Amino acid sequence: MSKEIVNKKTAIKMLSRLGSEFVIVDNPSYINPNYDIFPLSKKLRDPLSKMIASVMDMDGTTTTTEVLCIHSLEFMIRKFSGFLTPQQWRGLDHEKDFPNVIGNSTTKHVEYLIKTYGKIINNDFVIQSFIQAAVWTLLFGKDEGRKREVIDNLSAFNLSSLHNEISLKLKDNLSISLNEFDSIIKKAQRKYSKLIVIRGESDLVRIGIDVYYQRYHEILERIRNGEAKQISNELNLEIGKHLIEPMPAIGVFLALVKGLLGKDASKFVDYLVQIKKKSSSKNIDKSKLENHLALLGEHFQKYPMKVAIVTSSIKYEADIVLSEVFKVLTNEVDNWNISKSKKIKIKNHFTAFDKFYEAIITATDSSEIRLKPHRDLYSLALYRLSIPVKDFNKVIGFEDSESGLIAMRAAGIGNCVAVPFAQTSGHNFQAASIIAKNGVVDILTKS
Ligand SMILES: [Mg+2]
Repeated sequence: MSKEIVNKKTAIKMLSRLGSEFVIVDNPSYINPNYDIFPLSKKLRDPLSKMIASVMDMDGTTTTTEVLCIHSLEFMIRKFSGFLTPQQWRGLDHEKDFPNVIGNSTTKHVEYLIKTYGKIINNDFVIQSFIQAAVWTLLFGKDEGRKREVIDNLSAFNLSSLHNEISLKLKDNLSISLNEFDSIIKKAQRKYSKLIVIRGESDLVRIGIDVYYQRYHEILERIRNGEAKQISNELNLEIGKHLIEPMPAIGVFLALVKGLLGKDASKFVDYLVQIKKKSSSKNIDKSKLENHLALLGEHFQKYPMKVAIVTSSIKYEADIVLSEVFKVLTNEVDNWNISKSKKIKIKNHFTAFDKFYEAIITATDSSEIRLKPHRDLYSLALYRLSIPVKDFNKVIGFEDSESGLIAMRAAGIGNCVAVPFAQTSGHNFQAASIIAKNGVVDILTKS
């Protein structure tokens, strides 16, 4: 790799050769410089049949998990303020807050909330919630990276002895009941609270990240243990019967582009039209669409697409979320109007999500400071899919958030589709080349 130090004039000249549109991305407060500038690839709007690969975001694009992420972020502010009920604090604001807490890195989301809700944050509550989150992560957490970060944070706040104490407990006792957990927390809070000094916003962010992840992972772990319905009731979430559901028509899209439907893709006309009709009353020529889908199905049977998931969630989260999504997809196939043998074949493909995708790129593959809107996760996906740079124009990408769309364009993906949904409807989608308000359905039905 050649390296050359050039002057400002040459740098500007070289930068301008990289494109005609650029994005300025703010960095977290601990990074120098405080912003980066990336060139964006040219916007493209090529038909699906020209594509050889699809890269797709997970939360909010493939699935509905944003609801859980938002809940966990709100939970963090509730813990930090002591305002645990909606009567004490109404919670996050859909219009004002949601565009800032979806699609970026967790650090950026937490930073935003701490800046916005700084006035109601009480350091005593912050300290108590930190001890609780740290002890939970060390005792019950399943992600090693997360544990390491908690251990680093404990040491940064001079609490290494709390870490040692918990390590000893883990050595003697493999299973700790919830009652025991409560008493461990209370004891630790009494013993260690006074030792912690919060020196400013960056300390609050560090702790906020631990509290957020603790809540999110606690919920994911319960989902993995089959408690999805119970949690849905507890949290009073109005999101249907499953806590983690695939977005509309994701199953049909994946089966079609992987060449599993063939001509039978035409049998999904009514299903797709129904989804489209929810948002528009435009008359659709069904026989034309039937023909279009049959051709698409046949095309991808001959030339299946490579598919990848690209998410700023860590691997531990993606594993639980995707296995839930594919469980639901497998059940969905039973209701499809296709032959029994085809159903069995598709269900087989849907049983193991990690075999279904050619690449699954998560935050664990990169580092927190290089997540979306930085291009790295998408660049990594293109590399793992073995797509040469000259073919980047044959890749289609789907994202529900502004950061994700920017990351994709920065990685060189010009066919860049925004799939807004309830939670991200306030986002700015100017980076997208297509805005598909009915999600992948709009792309499947577009000739
Ligand atoms: Mg998303």
